[in-house]
Amino acid sequence: MKIPFNKPHFTGREAFHLSQAAYKGKLSGNGDYTRDCQLFFEKKYGFKKTLFTTSCSDALEMAALLLGIGPGDEVIMPSYTFVSTANAFALRGASIVFADSNPLNPNIDTELIESLITPKTRAIVVVHYGGIACDMDRIMQVANPHNIAVVEDAAQGIDAFYKDKPLGGIGKLGTFSFHETKNITSGEGGMLIVNDSSLTGKAEIIWEKGTNRAAFARGEVEKYEWVSLGSSFLPNELTAAFLYGQLEHLEAIQQKRLEIWKEYYRQLTPLSQSGFLSLPHVPEYARHNGHLFYVVTRSSTERDQLLGFLQKNGIHAVFHYLTLHNSPYYKGRHDGRILHQADRYAATLLRLPFYYGLQTSEIEYISEVISRFYSN
Ligand SMILES: *Cc1c(COP(=O)(O)O)cnc(C)c1O
Repeated sequence: MKIPFNKPHFTGREAFHLSQAAYKGKLSGNGDYTRDCQLFFEKKYGFKKTLFTTSCSDALEMAALLLGIGPGDEVIMPSYTFVSTANAFALRGASIVFADSNPLNPNIDTELIESLITPKTRAIVVVHYGGIACDMDRIMQVANPHNIAVVEDAAQGIDAFYKDKPLGGIGKLGTFSFHETKNITSGEGGMLIVNDSSLTGKAEIIWEKGTNRAAFARGEVEKYEWVSLGSSFLPNELTAAFLYGQLEHLEAIQQKRLEIWKEYYRQLTPLSQSGFLSLPHVPEYARHNGHLFYVVTRSSTERDQLLGFLQKNGIHAVFHYLTLHNSPYYKGRHDGRILHQADRYAATLLRLPFYYGLQTSEIEYISEVISRFYSN
């Protein structure tokens, strides 16, 4: 048996929409399919304004530009995250203040945030790891009195919720990813969610290379001009058409992924009850989206041995982030705080194969191999 870690899922609707886009003959960005994708999210989740972007990394860069982040500013975020979360703000010259994860799951330790705030703090970026929500009420409560912007890196959090609120829709800004490894994909792609209406116009300008072209296209201005800083953050219509073909099947995809997640949880619960490994912690306020399934081992050596054992049995499992405060680029810039939990997840977390086509029999096999590892 050979089980890969990820396999992109095709709904079968993508080719139809790709040919429609080609047939319409408008391939550059901000056309009908881009609008349809944005409207899909605005209608389904009640987002005020969304902008389809070339990636989540780019949506995060837009967020940094929109908030006017610059040298001398500090931005608080978890160290256990993808490099783009930090890169977007570091590119603008900000200092990144890395926070530890909480002991129960890799999300930022909410109780630490207050102690990291200084007069220079301009933003708090939270990451909903595995589509499992951070404690957003608490985070907003800490940020609001200081007038600090909250950005949700919801790259993994599409169609997941905090209480009854969709992730990405709670902070001032939110971002999604449609990278091949995410629940819904256009190969590369992302989205900026603008929850603060006062930033909508500026967001469109940054998106359209610093011009007011979006307003021009709506007939609101007579000519379009360079009005501010921006870049080319729009994907072409083919990318939007592909994504639309995925969105049409969003509910079926989500249902399947949640079943896979639950099956893993069911199969591995005995091992967790025996104390061999721990399973994802989903707080009561979080409704996750079956983005990934991970286990946390008791030590780094054990994690690496388990990875090797799975590999030997044809199962491709992978670890996840290396902490950013320890990265070659940031090590010398970090203030020296030891981030125990983040380092622990970097050393002991392991992700199991997870994709739409994964069969129950394969989950049983993977779980059986893990059990065999622990019975030796
Ligand atoms: C995938 C991911 C990103 C980057 O998304 P891209 O669309 O590949 O740029 C950023 N942050 C997190 C937490 C991610 O998981």
